[in-house]
Amino acid sequence: MSALKSILLQEIATGGPMSLAAYMQRALTDPQHGYYMQRRPFGAPDEDGGDFITAPEVSQMFGELLGAWMADLWDRMGRPAPFCLAELGPGRGTLMADMMRAAAVLPDFTAAAQVHFIEVSPALRDAQKQAVPSAQWHDDLSTLPALPTLIIANEFFDALPIHQFKKTARDWDEIFVDAEDDRLVFASHPTDDAVLSPALKACLPPSLSQDDIVEACPAGEAAMAQLSAHISTHGGAALIVDYGHAEAGAGDSFQALEKHEFVDPLAAPGMADLTAHVNFPVLAHIAARHGLNAAPIATQGDFLEALGLNIRAQQLMQASPGREKHINDERLRLAAPQHMGQLFKVLAVAHKDMPPLAGFIR
Ligand code: SAH
Repeated sequence: MSALKSILLQEIATGGPMSLAAYMQRALTDPQHGYYMQRRPFGAPDEDGGDFITAPEVSQMFGELLGAWMADLWDRMGRPAPFCLAELGPGRGTLMADMMRAAAVLPDFTAAAQVHFIEVSPALRDAQKQAVPSAQWHDDLSTLPALPTLIIANEFFDALPIHQFKKTARDWDEIFVDAEDDRLVFASHPTDDAVLSPALKACLPPSLSQDDIVEACPAGEAAMAQLSAHISTHGGAALIVDYGHAEAGAGDSFQALEKHEFVDPLAAPGMADLTAHVNFPVLAHIAARHGLNAAPIATQGDFLEALGLNIRAQQLMQASPGREKHINDERLRLAAPQHMGQLFKVLAVAHKDMPPLAGFIR
């Protein structure tokens, strides 16, 4: 049994069932036993210790295209210097390192950029320091400098704790984690709709049936509100990439990945990555409430192709004979609908004085 599981079983025995959000928070970021706090979760199936792989770890092309997006936007917004280039949940730091390398075609951009990382995990902060030695670290967005700010977040919001509510004939049940002998189990308890935030209520599907599941992510809403307030005060834009839905939606998306396989999310807290799909309409709604403009939510495939993924792949193939198939496979994994191209979405939000954002169909 995982160490955290026996701790949680005991806590539930004395304190009663815990919300799914409390469970997810402990499983991912408990200072001693949390999944992100000591493990090195990223890697290909053949890499020791890898549980899942993210777009920047799939291919350097992902970070290169986003770096070009940032440098181009910085140029067109009037080249503020210095400016804050912030990343939420940078993992191994691969994305920022690739972005900075690609953006070095505009040396004034790299000279003006102050890199700021928001990261909870000491182990991952160490890895990020290797990749981007000049970065500065923060626990949350509240301590970012008062500068025009460009923000990137890839697979950050899916890691934030969610509550689940199930529609009943009269109102709602909230789904909790309870103990049964030495097992953790789901258990529903009645609640009322006051627990749903105004932003989530504004983005619910027009009709819900009994037993439909609605997921609420207060930590994600709070991070989005903080991000939006920062950009609204200091100027700039944010690019949020993650898996999730672009339309109002309902459904259970709580999942656990271990060694690239889906596993029971209650089986071994601290040992598997727990995530939920990101509710993009809610994030866009919060940005709009702060006076930001939001581009129409795009799929990762369309966005990367609009930024020149296919051209970049061709260039790399010409530069590295013998690696053509490998590079083409990476391109497909990032953009093909059956891989990351369709499930992953891109939301861009910007201060209303910013120039048009590249890569989105209007
Ligand atoms: N962006 C990276 C990593 C994604 S995994 C990539 O694409 O490869 C999620 C990242 O968010 C990890 O770095 C994790 O430690 C961090 N994280 C998770 N919860 C967090 C929180 N509450 N505050 C700050 N960082 C968090």
